Amino acid sequence: MERYDIVVLGGGAAGLMAAVSAAEAGNGGLRVSVLEGNARVGKKLLATGNGRCNLSNRFVAPTHYHGDVSRAAGLLKRFPTEKVIGQFAHLGLLCRELDEGRIYPYSLQAASVLEVLRLHLEQRGVVVQCGMPVTEVRREKGGFCLQCDGKWLQAARVIFATGGLAYPQLGANDSGYRMLRALGHTVTALRPALVQIRTEPRRAKPLKGMRSSAEVTLLVNHRPVQTAKGEVQFTEHGLSGICMFELSRKAGECLERKMGPVELGLDLMPEYTESQILSMLYRTIERLPDLPGASCWEDC
Ligand SMILES: Cc1cc2nc3c(=O)[nH]c(=O)nc-3n(C[C@H](O)[C@H](O)[C@H](O)COP(=O)(O)OP(=O)(O)OC[C@H]3O[C@@H](n4cnc5c(N)ncnc54)[C@H](O)[C@@H]3O)c2cc1C
Repeated sequence: MERYDIVVLGGGAAGLMAAVSAAEAGNGGLRVSVLEGNARVGKKLLATGNGRCNLSNRFVAPTHYHGDVSRAAGLLKRFPTEKVIGQFAHLGLLCRELDEGRIYPYSLQAASVLEVLRLHLEQRGVVVQCGMPVTEVRREKGGFCLQCDGKWLQAARVIFATGGLAYPQLGANDSGYRMLRALGHTVTALRPALVQIRTEPRRAKPLKGMRSSAEVTLLVNHRPVQTAKGEVQFTEHGLSGICMFELSRKAGECLERKMGPVELGLDLMPEYTESQILSMLYRTIERLPDLPGASCWEDC
């Protein structure tokens, strides 16, 4: 039976970085392996930041996180943006900062990030095994037993880096959560976040393909609970764009908890007051009474 000091489950961004760090910490003295269910590692990593990999942000702060913010604060203190950039520089990857503090590889290619991680794993003798979905992890004396592809492996330590549920087409699944539960861990409630928001089709569909900057208010039970500013994209099924992504987590939570009607209020002209917009519309109706929009307006 294959035996390792450390087995990392999942060859995504977290797993690859964990394996590099484990191998480096062991200074060549630890047997480390990455087990990846997909045919190759880093599939999601390649899709990040529109293929450019937005790997950190200058202004990252605990307030940007949900749930137990104190944990995020502790981690960010130990691993601030400077250290992330420094760690990549140490691996040989130069980074650059673009708009709003976003940090990318200098090449603006996610493939550069994956390549540098892969090279370091190879150099440090980490055994990367693809097409190896782990189906069971059992505790045993002195470590763990892992089942994958019909065979068993032994590991003194296991690092779970099996990712979240977003984007199943890239290999995301709930096997990691299931195995952690079986080992006695608790899993916090999972909710979609950073996604487009589906609406009643008759509202958004006629405007499909259009984009506009807007101030968007999430209303629950007719009360505002969160606002966001940015570009809104009208799609086949609803609304997308950065500000929708920001509101999506809260919207999902309110829907799941059945807290009452969940609505989105879009202010497409936030620089103008309601009365200014009304008088502009009335003036237009007076000047162009035959315009179809005028009759729509009367119907409203
Ligand atoms: C379209 C898109 C764009 C994004 N853009 C950005 C961005 O610009 N910046 C940013 O910071 N984040 C971005 N993200 C989020 C980012 O991709 C994730 O936070 C990050 O990839 C998570 O890394 P991970 O290693 O935790 O999980 P993953 O990358 O999901 O890796 C987990 C790996 O574990 C494997 N696995 C799962 N179960 C098993 C098992 N039982 N056995 C073996 N292997 C298993 C999976 O196949 C997968 O390869 C984006 C996400 C998406 C979907």
